[in-house]
Amino acid sequence: MRFEGKVALVTGASRGIGKAIALALAKEGADIIVNYSRDDDKAREVVDLAIPFGIKAIMVKADVSNPSQVEEMERIVRKEFGRIDVIINSAGITFRHPLEEVPYEEWRRIIEVNLNGAFYVMRAFFKLMVDSGGGSIVNIASVAGHIPMVGSGAYSPSKAGLIMLTKLAALEWAKYGIRVNAVCPGSVETDMLREEFTEEQIKIKKKLIPLGRLGRTEDIAKLVLFLASEESSYITGESFIIDGGMTISYYLVESRLMREHGI
Ligand code: NAP
Repeated sequence: MRFEGKVALVTGASRGIGKAIALALAKEGADIIVNYSRDDDKAREVVDLAIPFGIKAIMVKADVSNPSQVEEMERIVRKEFGRIDVIINSAGITFRHPLEEVPYEEWRRIIEVNLNGAFYVMRAFFKLMVDSGGGSIVNIASVAGHIPMVGSGAYSPSKAGLIMLTKLAALEWAKYGIRVNAVCPGSVETDMLREEFTEEQIKIKKKLIPLGRLGRTEDIAKLVLFLASEESSYITGESFIIDGGMTISYYLVESRLMREHGI
């Protein structure tokens, strides 16, 4: 049990990648805080699935883009657990528009949730983590933070910013025993992907992944748990791509297109 006696907060844990991470942490003995912003029933489901692992699990509704709600979440965690060892910033949103048509409000919202939200959480929980003797923070960024994702407006800039925030915090907080790393998934089977792309589009996406399938939430959870645990005690400030080879597939796509055109 890699996380026995540890307390872990997972933002955006009611669905998708965050849910898989929260449950994997609970299975390994961590007490968990399931954060979400809208769907109480989904969050309760995660808590109900986690408790049979013999750990303490609570749900806390807080919009990560709202600093006072994040600070209130910190007060709840302090009261309920008195410590924090692991923070996973997984809450995230996306919208699709060509850059010249992105509504200003949509641009601001993505930056608020994906980038500012992670910062507000890290800032609010910093002191508790220091008082707990240090810990590990893992920010769920995206391959879109390394390569520009066409038509996704502020999404790529928000994730690139999150990768840089990861490095900055790793540098400033190393002296407190806090490690900070980022995980950059490719295309993972979740509501976010299904809301953003049609079945037909997802089929094409699969063709561009050398390993031949979309990512599963459990694939991401395994890497996150490694980074959250003592097994990675000498790793900080890094960002890890986990995409089935998608971002290295340029020449594969090029050769397929050439074959299709008979050249
Ligand atoms: P998802 O299935 O849409 O789940 C998003 C989660 O975040 C939900 O639990 C949602 O709960 C919560 N959330 C949304 N806005 C929030 C806010 N303001 N405050 C607190 N919680 C909030 O998304 P996912 O695919 O699992 O994505 C998780 C993370 O991975 C995101 O950061 C995403 O950018 C990143 N990622 C995903 C993919 C992919 O292909 N799926 C690829 C690369 C990176 P409520 O609706 O109840 O608030």
